[in-house]
Amino acid sequence: MSITDTDAIVIGGGLHGTSTAMHLALKGMRPIVIEKNSVGRHASGVNAGGVRQLLRDPAEIPLSMAAMDRWLDLESLLGRYAAMCEFVGHIGQVAVAETEADMRKLEARAAEIRALGWNHEELVDRQELRRLLPAVADHCIGGLVSRRDGQATPYLTSQAFRLRAIELGVRFVEGVRVTGLEHGTRWRVLTTDSIFTSEILINCGGAWAWQTASLVGETLPRGYFAATMMVTGRMPSFVDPVVIGTGRQLSFKQTSTGTVVIGGGILGIADLTKETADPVAERMRVSAETCSILFPIMRRATIVRAWAGLEARMPDQIPVIGPSQTAPNMWHAFGFSGHGFQLSTIVGSLLADLIVDGRSPLPLDAFRPSRFSEAISGVG
Ligand SMILES: Cc1cc2nc3c(=O)[nH]c(=O)nc-3n(C[C@H](O)[C@H](O)[C@H](O)COP(=O)(O)OP(=O)(O)OC[C@H]3O[C@@H](n4cnc5c(N)ncnc54)[C@H](O)[C@@H]3O)c2cc1C
Repeated sequence: MSITDTDAIVIGGGLHGTSTAMHLALKGMRPIVIEKNSVGRHASGVNAGGVRQLLRDPAEIPLSMAAMDRWLDLESLLGRYAAMCEFVGHIGQVAVAETEADMRKLEARAAEIRALGWNHEELVDRQELRRLLPAVADHCIGGLVSRRDGQATPYLTSQAFRLRAIELGVRFVEGVRVTGLEHGTRWRVLTTDSIFTSEILINCGGAWAWQTASLVGETLPRGYFAATMMVTGRMPSFVDPVVIGTGRQLSFKQTSTGTVVIGGGILGIADLTKETADPVAERMRVSAETCSILFPIMRRATIVRAWAGLEARMPDQIPVIGPSQTAPNMWHAFGFSGHGFQLSTIVGSLLADLIVDGRSPLPLDAFRPSRFSEAISGVG
């Protein structure tokens, strides 16, 4: 069996693995990304493409703001591949209030965010809501907007990251699964194809990342789910911002071609072993109805396709980013819990800083892998 030696191995060719490798390469390393399927095959390539600062967990806000700065300047990150992402910023994401109870909820959220010193989430009244969303249903009374937010095309974004990483010297090994990990003086990574050795190992395995952690005796949450999506045929242009439900589960956006992409956390059937995620028609029906209630024009829409993707979910809905608790020179970045696409422009960069320079310019303590074992043992 052949042995390939390098300085850093990244397990997982989703956006976070690719971005981490890209940023390590920018720091002079020669990373190899090992991906069991193909780059962007799972959550990173099939998600809703929402680039959202709105309604983030407070711990994620500094990262999300920095990520948005990078989305708005993609050329610095991706060079000639930036346009591939089809990113549109400054269209805003709007959480719509249908009832007084929804409005109270959004007011409380806005106050919470302001008290933390942030001002990117802005309450809007009925009139401003209609200016932002002229086609919204009459009963909607207001909302919360984050004006810098936008959308991009996930599969193309994954490929743009891959091409930029290759340009910087990253090597991708696709169709190869990591099956075993050994650590002597260096990492020895056993795969279905050959053996790789390196000093540094990074686990960006998405919904399967806990399995990789368990190869070094580390127990991390095994949560995962199938998030489902639908897309309509072309519609006349009627909505620019991305729309989120407040009292109902919905995320909703119209692309430049006129198709409407509908998501919002409706669950499908997830099978981690078969690596499949299937939508459930009845649940999608509820989602389609919600669209028509919020946007009556959607009664004319035809659903042309539905799909689902496997995504890791942590008990506290925020990712794991940081060093392994059981193994030296091993790092984790996974568990993005349904909102890691937007963070993909920043997390790999912070992780590369942490690995090479020993410190991250943004706070990562809330994401430390050890928080789950601390909770079990009652520490912290
Ligand atoms: C339907 C859907 C809609 C979403 N919508 C949004 C949205 O609008 N906005 C947003 O911000 N986020 C959204 N997300 C979340 C976002 O897509 C994810 O958080 C993000 O893509 C996670 O990236 P990742 O690199 O961690 O994981 P992944 O993209 O899943 O990549 C992990 C990779 O690791 C590989 N791997 C695992 N184990 C091994 C192994 N042993 N050997 C080799 N390879 C391995 C897998 O094959 C996989 O390709 C959505 C997710 C889904 C599923």
